[in-house]
Amino acid sequence: MEKKKIVFCNKCNKEVSYHHDKVNHFVQFIITLFSCGLWLPMWLMMIFGPTKICDECNTPIWED
Ligand SMILES: [Zn+2]
Repeated sequence: MEKKKIVFCNKCNKEVSYHHDKVNHFVQFIITLFSCGLWLPMWLMMIFGPTKICDECNTPIWED
């Protein structure tokens, strides 16, 4: 049985399917460079904890 990815979206106020935002590593590299490495933890967070994006309203979904 196929497991469907369902998460609750606060904006739609219902259960929705989601996708992951693609990380633009080139842009992240540039930001890290210009922030003297301060952005690096954020970059790593995007790699290891990709943000869920609601399929219906395209807003990031933050879970507790
Ligand atoms: Zn939504």
